[in-house]
Amino acid sequence: MTFLHGIAASNGIAIAKAYRLVEPDLSFEKKTIEEPTTEVERFRKALMQSNTELEGIRDRAKVDLGADKAAIFEAHLLVLNDPELTGPIEDKIKSENVNAEAALKETADMFVLMFEQMDNEYMRERAADIRDVTKRVLSHLLDVEIVNPSMIAEEVIIVAEDLTPSDTAGLNRQFVKGFTTNIGGRTSHSAIMARSLEIPAVVGTKTATEEIHNGDLVIVDGLKGEVHINPTPELVEQYRKISKEFEAQKAEWAKLVNEKTVSADGHHVELAANIGTPNDLKGVIANGGEAVGLYRTEFLYMGREQLPTEEEQFEAYKAVLEGMEGKPVVVRTLDIGGDKELPYLELPKEMNPFLGFRAIRLCLEEQGIFRTQLRALLRASIYGNLKIMFPMIATLDEFRDAKAILEEEKQKLLSEGQKVADKIELGIMVEIPSTAILADQFAKEVDFFSIGTNDLIQYTMAADRMNQRVSYLYQPYSPSILRLVKMVIDAAHAEGKWAGMCGEMAGDEIAIPVLLGLGLDEFSMSATSILKARSLIRKLNKADMEKLTQKVLNMQTTSQVIEAVKNATN
Ligand code: PEP
Ligand code: MG
Repeated sequence: MTFLHGIAASNGIAIAKAYRLVEPDLSFEKKTIEEPTTEVERFRKALMQSNTELEGIRDRAKVDLGADKAAIFEAHLLVLNDPELTGPIEDKIKSENVNAEAALKETADMFVLMFEQMDNEYMRERAADIRDVTKRVLSHLLDVEIVNPSMIAEEVIIVAEDLTPSDTAGLNRQFVKGFTTNIGGRTSHSAIMARSLEIPAVVGTKTATEEIHNGDLVIVDGLKGEVHINPTPELVEQYRKISKEFEAQKAEWAKLVNEKTVSADGHHVELAANIGTPNDLKGVIANGGEAVGLYRTEFLYMGREQLPTEEEQFEAYKAVLEGMEGKPVVVRTLDIGGDKELPYLELPKEMNPFLGFRAIRLCLEEQGIFRTQLRALLRASIYGNLKIMFPMIATLDEFRDAKAILEEEKQKLLSEGQKVADKIELGIMVEIPSTAILADQFAKEVDFFSIGTNDLIQYTMAADRMNQRVSYLYQPYSPSILRLVKMVIDAAHAEGKWAGMCGEMAGDEIAIPVLLGLGLDEFSMSATSILKARSLIRKLNKADMEKLTQKVLNMQTTSQVIEAVKNATN
């Protein structure tokens, strides 16, 4: 039995066989061959095997993920069966007497290069399809398995170096019981996705992929951040009990689903949910969310081959607004960059992606992308209570520029005869220290703030949120962070505006009492944290939390704050 320690990223216990998601080794040597005809046959066999495999994946994807996700595999099938690609490969085998692997790779690389250099965006995207298909055919030639999580058909725990947000979004909840990764932190987006999918997860174990083999029995303890490999039957039994207790606790919280979030002394706060797709709404409603406090729209742009159209976006935003039946929905405009990539945008690699060309910086530059999103949002605004916020605002000029573009699009729509809601609140994420420090000035111009502590903490502490070696610096209760949060809330209130928080800190048991004391108006978190937070807030006295807050703001260290909160709330 082996034990790994990591970061508890998503609550719950999962016990199942390991399924390793690792990059296959597709290396080979270029060889001269004697029998080109046999080699061509070998190549054709690999093509056929790839074809059968792709058809299976496409059919499964259609059922499990919908026709738009399945379209990716349809495109792969087209490439695979294109004589313009396969013909030159066969010719090369015959004319140069080289093995199929080398003929395939060299020909495909040439096409990839050619497509990548084309002006037409659609053609450039075909380069990615050719790369994927080449990988698949190579894997059959070399007899190496390439794993595809959407093909999983038994209960498993995924073991990976890292999972991208789109890998996570594609996981089939029916079979994927949990996951564990070598890298990542509590606020990496794969962890955030795991919470909204309610998949127990432990990230940042450093060595999961080295220690765990396919088929090993694994326990993922997402409550404590532990992973047990090939546990004893006694330990499995113990964990089954813990899992039952956790489920019983959840059933207790579930009784609060239709209750208001009111402190013991009668102060109401709003408990909202963070969502990534319209599908997450079910969880928001099941967990008694009073609003959507953060709709991370970038997930609409991921796991696909090109930008979503205005119409696709309009449908998604409308679905969320209608689904919330008039309750507030705060939609954040595109926040791409950092750990969220869009391969089809082909942005150059950066030394420091979290400090780079991302979010509003990209939108103000690539205005076509931004304007399409704003138009879709404005058109959807008549279907509910829409509020729009801009991510990663560092200066007032950025906010003013973004607001002016929004206003221009609104006027254009109105002149086209389209309907737009009269009043749409416009806010910003406060996730950059400069903005928190200047919050009093921002508060004069914005309608609300939403504090994004995942980034605010990484930027204040200068500690990459993806790097588990510096994860000890993710310190939401540090007096430094608490003071910044206070500045933002006070600045909003001084101008009669509201302040919310949509970073993971908003759902944190130790932070909640302090945030209540600081006067935070809206707490937005993973839907699965809402009922637990409601149960906690209903037991707290706001007046007492204000006194506690006064004390902790003047403390020196995080551990002092934790102790003070525990003493005040037990
Ligand atoms: C944040 O930074 O706190 C936030 C909510 O945004 P994201 O996690 O998507 O960067
Ligand atoms: Mg952020």
